[in-house]
Amino acid sequence: MKPQKPRHAAPSSAAQMRAVPPVVCYPVETLPQPDIPTLLARRKTARQSSQVIVPPRDGACIEVPAGSFFRITSIEGPQVGDLNLWNAHDLTERFYSGKTRALHGTHLSTGDQMWSSFPAMRPMATIVDDTLDWYGFDAFGGSVHDVIGTRCDPYTRRLLSGEDYHYCCHSNLTRALSAYRGLDLHEAEAHVHDVLNVFMCTGFTQDTGQYFMKASPVRPGDYLEFLAEIDLLVGLSACPGGDCSSEHSSDAAACYPLELSVWMPPDSAQKDHKVPQLNAYDRSHGIS
Ligand SMILES: [Zn+2]
Repeated sequence: MKPQKPRHAAPSSAAQMRAVPPVVCYPVETLPQPDIPTLLARRKTARQSSQVIVPPRDGACIEVPAGSFFRITSIEGPQVGDLNLWNAHDLTERFYSGKTRALHGTHLSTGDQMWSSFPAMRPMATIVDDTLDWYGFDAFGGSVHDVIGTRCDPYTRRLLSGEDYHYCCHSNLTRALSAYRGLDLHEAEAHVHDVLNVFMCTGFTQDTGQYFMKASPVRPGDYLEFLAEIDLLVGLSACPGGDCSSEHSSDAAACYPLELSVWMPPDSAQKDHKVPQLNAYDRSHGIS
């Protein structure tokens, strides 16, 4: 947080400096734009091929072949979910929330892509539909589906309260990955990463710039839907914060399950999908 009473005096040009208009760090006009109408037409031909219900305060994994769609649906009550993505064949290629934020902004919606870690750095998934796209940004600067938070975790809980809590999203994703892939718990934990906060309504306070949350506008029937750009292993946690209107990292909030479903187009439609290439940087890092 910035100090309320700075120790250093502002220079005489302070007002001039503050008046300089900002420049977007990463203009994305050069990125290939997803063809959402075509993808939605392909989605209409898809049939549900698998489904898992993520229990409250727990996690689950599911595999999604490239060119298929997956949907996260609110089914019984307002509930936010923490989403992890891995390359199904190489767990070291995983969702990179920080770079996705740098490219697409603080909160994602239809047309935005979820990018993978270095050195692959390619789209792992494209958002094709979002029933909460009407929310926009509220008067507090809040919006839904953020890539600014991390995931609730037992280490921060311990640090701030001195208590151990075992059903944070970090632990839920760790248990789910461990069970799904038969990995040792600590090996699985090393693959869990910062998330897309599905349905969560968040922002930064205007006075102190602190991360805030407020009651999610999500209601049963709302969903967020994605195209799998590569073969994916998807992990989802139903956050112990429920709708995140009060607190997380405890059993205090009302929590509900989330539905995670996979939809496969017929072979003829799926073959139209082109898997994104690995990033073309030569990785020499200035050493010839
Ligand atoms: Zn959580």
